[in-house]
Amino acid sequence: MKPLEYLDRSLMCDGVALADVAAMAGTPCYVYSAKTLRENYRAYADAFGDTPHRVYYAMKANGNLSILRLLAKEGAGFDIVSGGELFRVLKAGCDPSKVVFSGVGKTSAEIDQALEAGIFAFNCESEPELALIDSLTHRRGVKARVAIRVNPNVQASTHAYISTGGKAHKFGIDIDEAEGVYERARAHKSLLIEGVSCHIGSQIFDPTSLLKAVDRVLEFIDKLRGRGFDIRHADLGGGLGVGYKPDDEVPVISEFVAALRARTTGRGLEVMVEPGRSIVGNAGVLVTRVLYRKRTGTKEFVITDAAMTDLIRPALYDAHHEILPVRAAEGLPTICADVVGPVCESGDFLAHDRTMPEAFPGDLLAVCTAGAYGFVQSSTYNARPRAAEVLVDEGVARIVRQRETYEDLIRGE
Ligand SMILES: *Cc1c(COP(=O)(O)O)cnc(C)c1O
Repeated sequence: MKPLEYLDRSLMCDGVALADVAAMAGTPCYVYSAKTLRENYRAYADAFGDTPHRVYYAMKANGNLSILRLLAKEGAGFDIVSGGELFRVLKAGCDPSKVVFSGVGKTSAEIDQALEAGIFAFNCESEPELALIDSLTHRRGVKARVAIRVNPNVQASTHAYISTGGKAHKFGIDIDEAEGVYERARAHKSLLIEGVSCHIGSQIFDPTSLLKAVDRVLEFIDKLRGRGFDIRHADLGGGLGVGYKPDDEVPVISEFVAALRARTTGRGLEVMVEPGRSIVGNAGVLVTRVLYRKRTGTKEFVITDAAMTDLIRPALYDAHHEILPVRAAEGLPTICADVVGPVCESGDFLAHDRTMPEAFPGDLLAVCTAGAYGFVQSSTYNARPRAAEVLVDEGVARIVRQRETYEDLIRGE
């Protein structure tokens, strides 16, 4: 699995042996490839070419400061969903004028914080939110640029928890009701109503649903312009899927962007996208050590030092992650096992009924495609300090987040 490859049977990430990274950082640890991050970002930026565009990395997928800095250097903007994410973006030295603020539940403190920083725009999700942004903006004597997030009522075929564009979801404003919302928003004199945004879900494999949403948004923009709105930007969200299984047919970023260009060229719009998973997903791997082997009844278990607290995707979304041996020994028998962590929950698993090479206590395993929605969803349940994070760049592995300590666990108590 990209970006990993075996060299003399040792699993490598950009020229660095994962076994060496584990020796340096301990396990479990996340390892990220700077090269893959750059390639993924550039796949978007290059495909847009001279179309006015902006790529806002959805940092909720992975908000490590070093990753934010790396992407900022590439020219990325950032899609944030909380005041904490804004704090991170600013700490990383990113340009606040390249930040959009999404999410259904922005507090007045968070809105104020974003106005203070001078972000590019708010993606608003309800009329009370528009009113609140207007009043806080008015109080400061400034103007705030807003887009209203419309819900194009397109069902993305993905896991129910990460589908967001249907009528029954909490996100956005139904596209059939949105015209009235834009009209009423004219009353808010401190708002610059210049955009329309949408985001229909995540881990989408078939770009058809994404493009159907785009078509509805563009049609809607025509309508708004017909009513005199000066719509300048279309924020088309994130959502492109990544391959978790070797035979997954993954949408090609450049082809998707080409389809966006074909639809938007000549419309006098700045086109914005908010990819998260497709930038960072395949750039990360979780390295873990086998603690025990165990058999109960008919079940075979591989017990690892990584748990659902480190990577919750299998438990939360029934997600599949490939698991590779960090040292590939020849002639080992194949086993069928559950790969599980030490946490006191039967939902604590990294894989169910996985056919894999025999693994012994002390062996290292690489849980692939763990860069997105991995570390950021980790917790300290069972008083487990969070894992270390390592960035590999130009053949050098550097710890970019220390493993948490026991003292970190009790801070504030
Ligand atoms: C989560 C999210 C994204 C990113 O989605 P990916 O599937 O990771 O690309 C983009 N925009 C919004 C508003 C989001 O909530």
